[in-house]
Amino acid sequence: MIPPFEGDSYDFRSYVPASNVIGGVLDNGNAGEILEILNPRYAKAMSTCAMSNASDVDAAVQAAIKAFPAWSALPIRERAQVLYRFRNLMLDHLDELCWLVTHENGKTFEESKGEVLKGVECVEFSCSLPNLAAGRELEVSSGVVCKEIHEPLGVVAGVTPFNFPNMVPLWMIPNALVAGNCFIHKPSEQTPLSALRIAALLKEAGLPDGVLNVVQGAKAAVEALCDHPGIRALAFVGSTPVARLVYGRAAQSGKRALCLGGAKNHLIMVPDAEPAMTAQNVVASFTGCAGQRCMAASVLVAVGEVDHIVDEIVSQAAALKVGENVGAIVNSQSQKRIEAYIAQAEEMGATVRLDGRQSDRKDGYWVGPTVLDHMTPSIPGCVEEIFGPVLSIVRVESLEEALDLENQSPFGNASSVYTSSGYVAEKVMARVSAGMCGVNIGVPVPREPFSFGGWNHSKFGHGDVTGWDGFRFFSRPRKITMKWELHEDATWMS
Ligand code: NAD
Repeated sequence: MIPPFEGDSYDFRSYVPASNVIGGVLDNGNAGEILEILNPRYAKAMSTCAMSNASDVDAAVQAAIKAFPAWSALPIRERAQVLYRFRNLMLDHLDELCWLVTHENGKTFEESKGEVLKGVECVEFSCSLPNLAAGRELEVSSGVVCKEIHEPLGVVAGVTPFNFPNMVPLWMIPNALVAGNCFIHKPSEQTPLSALRIAALLKEAGLPDGVLNVVQGAKAAVEALCDHPGIRALAFVGSTPVARLVYGRAAQSGKRALCLGGAKNHLIMVPDAEPAMTAQNVVASFTGCAGQRCMAASVLVAVGEVDHIVDEIVSQAAALKVGENVGAIVNSQSQKRIEAYIAQAEEMGATVRLDGRQSDRKDGYWVGPTVLDHMTPSIPGCVEEIFGPVLSIVRVESLEEALDLENQSPFGNASSVYTSSGYVAEKVMARVSAGMCGVNIGVPVPREPFSFGGWNHSKFGHGDVTGWDGFRFFSRPRKITMKWELHEDATWMS
């Protein structure tokens, strides 16, 4: 029903419209409004996206409610078999899925490969759930047994951002499905196409119609998901202002909600850091996906005399070529926002060591690696999320000063330290205010089976989104206490 994407290079290629998928059937939505989907490399429309309204969301919920009894009645091992087959189909279609991400998002093919393979890892974790999700049982007093089993919630939903159109949906969908739920996915209206291929390959893997539904669109669709009484839980990944709104609105209607937000990740670099590894890692972290990822390094806190490493960072970043090893920016609004932060920092006294503004480029949306030295917290780009390939360097004299600076950030997604000292590493790991921390790691993503999620304004809600926490979010424990005969030593609790 949804054909494979035929692009196999960076050459422009158009694709089918991003429709809704409701009960296994393509649907153009009731709102009638259509948005153009641009390939950011060319700034040219490759498809269109249906902008759904509350009645589309309701249709998806009704399809999911219809599919739920049969799907949830299957033993967990049988549900996981669909995900095993889906995992194999993803690998069979690996290049196709990666090119689709590259075309709709703008990242390089190699970056898309990293994304899709991380998505595969999430699917593999969900395949292991039949072995992990066995319930507990204990004789709690004479003749009395307590047991706990995990049950699905019913219909659940996930709202995802533009920057990882394949991987972030797979943070949610596999665990939710193996747990026995039916799912409604609302992808980003800027990158809605990978969601169609996920739905198509899951169908090919044997997922019954209605178990996964896709509703395209933006604010109106998300608000309808928050408000719909038929949806039991909502997971969200996106920017902090929207995460906060969605968390409040979903909770207001009695839903379980977990909303991951934006980031401003601090990397602390001390003089005993290993120069080659540090420079390579920092550059990869702030330029990867053109800085459009929530785990990107954005503030480098340079402690003491580290000029030799800063110089190496600037020279390695300067060698990267926009369009070859640095991907595109998602749209013109984002490009302008990033450029405005750079201009403002320059005006407010920062030293622009490397300037990625591409004033001479006519096609596509691009910003090259940019290094702003001598940034201070009074400059907005030093504290707000820029979401582009921009590294802000703040100079401090001591580790204490570095930790204070990191602790003042309202965000708390990730933080790393570059050092050869175990003492410094342990001190930083104990003191930074972030959920995902790294020692000599530029992108400290906790890989499966560990769960992904930040702290502070980078996450609203309890628990994390992937791994075991993801399963817990999309399931509920039922506690059963049983006895079968009268025992003389029974207590009042029996
Ligand atoms: P966004 O917040 O603009 O959009 C995210 C989703 O929310 C999209 O599906 C969008 O359609 C919807 N949306 C947008 N405005 C809305 C509104 N007013 N009401 C309801 N729904 C709305 O985010 P984005 O630009 O797509 O993605 C980039 C952001 O996501 C960055 O801030 C980045 O740090 C963050 N992000 C965070 C994580 C994480 O794990 N913490 C991961 C990836 C991206």
